[in-house]
Amino acid sequence: MRGYQSEVIYQIDQNDFLVFFNDQWDLFAQDNDGPHLKSENIYNRKIWDFIHDAETRHLHETLLKRVRSNNTILNMPFRCDSPTLRRFMEMDILLQVDGKIEYRCRVIKTQLRNAVQVVAGNIQEERPFLRMCSWCKKIDVGNNSWVEIEDGIAFLGLLSQAIVPQISHTICEICLGDLEDDE
Ligand SMILES: [Zn+2]
Repeated sequence: MRGYQSEVIYQIDQNDFLVFFNDQWDLFAQDNDGPHLKSENIYNRKIWDFIHDAETRHLHETLLKRVRSNNTILNMPFRCDSPTLRRFMEMDILLQVDGKIEYRCRVIKTQLRNAVQVVAGNIQEERPFLRMCSWCKKIDVGNNSWVEIEDGIAFLGLLSQAIVPQISHTICEICLGDLEDDE
């Protein structure tokens, strides 16, 4: 088993352009079989160029908005597998004094990947649904229990799965109540 002694750190500016990587980034990219992800190749590219799944992007955009507007530090688990390893990781997302956003990622544990797992068929159809409130961005973790997005991601392991659920936009009970009060 191989671990990283230090964190992989990268930053984006106010317009979501990648503007900083630490040395661990390149080691990590190398390990992921991703020479195209070396820092010199992606400097000043938008972070969204590298998140191809629409639902994952939506989750990340929502998280980013929360960090920028509330100046909170979010911490959540995610998966980032290499060709040989299942990597269980966590990231901190924090706002810097100069307005940049810093991502700090670290490996929690790794497992050897099972080479026989081949996904057949249409993944789109197998996606489970995830309910998100369009107003407050909370997500439903079951039994009509609505929690902040970062808590829901951790609770449901949303960024730790091979397939991110499809997000269905709806309105939670609290926001619905607020709307009705305004009338
Ligand atoms: Zn709501």
